[in-house]
Amino acid sequence: MDTISLIGKELAAALNSDTAERAAALTERGAAPRLVLVVANDDPASGWYVKSLQRAAGRLGIDCDTVDLGATATADAIRSQLRGLCADIAVDAVMLQTPLPDGVALQDVSSAIAAAKDVDGVSPHSLGLLATGLPGFPPATSEAVVELAKHHDIPLAGKHVAVVGRSNVVGKPLAQLLLAEDATVTVCHSRTTDLPAVTAAADIVVAAAGRAGLITGDHVREGAVVIDVGTNEGPDGKIVGDVDAASVQGKAGALSPVPGGVGPVTTALLMRHVVRAAEASRA
Ligand code: NAD
Repeated sequence: MDTISLIGKELAAALNSDTAERAAALTERGAAPRLVLVVANDDPASGWYVKSLQRAAGRLGIDCDTVDLGATATADAIRSQLRGLCADIAVDAVMLQTPLPDGVALQDVSSAIAAAKDVDGVSPHSLGLLATGLPGFPPATSEAVVELAKHHDIPLAGKHVAVVGRSNVVGKPLAQLLLAEDATVTVCHSRTTDLPAVTAAADIVVAAAGRAGLITGDHVREGAVVIDVGTNEGPDGKIVGDVDAASVQGKAGALSPVPGGVGPVTTALLMRHVVRAAEASRA
């Protein structure tokens, strides 16, 4: 069977063009949208991601500053910085980068990000809004999975979706978003017994485990849709997903590539959240 490639480029471009127009309208009113990235690590991958967010913001007319607290920042220092930014009316959106310093857990500090500025939906408040179906910002990566499926006309209502991964930033919020789309959701994790049996029973498999090559042809039933959220460093330094594309190709009905699938849509949705936050605060 031909496996359709669920590329994210077109959707990201459409989202970005809308975001750039809205950012320009805000700037014309003297209210240019402003995102602040808070960093407390010296991790090269995080540094690379920060640069790519700065470039994306710049292209769309969004001001993007970075506050670097250093890799030894305390939880108190991070919380105090986040509270200060959330109290600043000149800041529309705040994103805390991971990894955090040793001994600092995301849930210990993310509650200091006000929901109105929490454009990556990481705080317990934002996750609660999502779980209860109230308006707020969902984590952009999870939202990207749903938007990518919709863009490629993949129905979700009534479908059985197996989500592989139960983190607070991807797997769990994605399960909530899929439930809101009337999908039947099974969340799998590292202690799931017989993962291939669970995923092979699903219409749609979403791989978000951070394990290169975890999902093979044996995990997927003929014609199923496979969406790969994983971003892992391959042996040659290149980014690879969680799906062993070679063994899934020809069996799955559709597969999202890594890179070029969920990733560009995630960044585009984040930037759309920034503009929405700015519109709401200037309304
Ligand atoms: P995480 O390490 O916090 O969580 C991984 C989850 O996968 C855990 O719940 C764990 O139980 C599960 N898991 C691990 N090994 C498993 C196995 N063998 N079988 C079944 N489940 C297993 O990771 P995360 O932050 O949720 O990120 C997941 C992946 O998504 C990573 O590769 C990350 O780089 C990627 N990611 C991509 C984007 C994007 O925009 N494309 C954004 C965020 C994260």
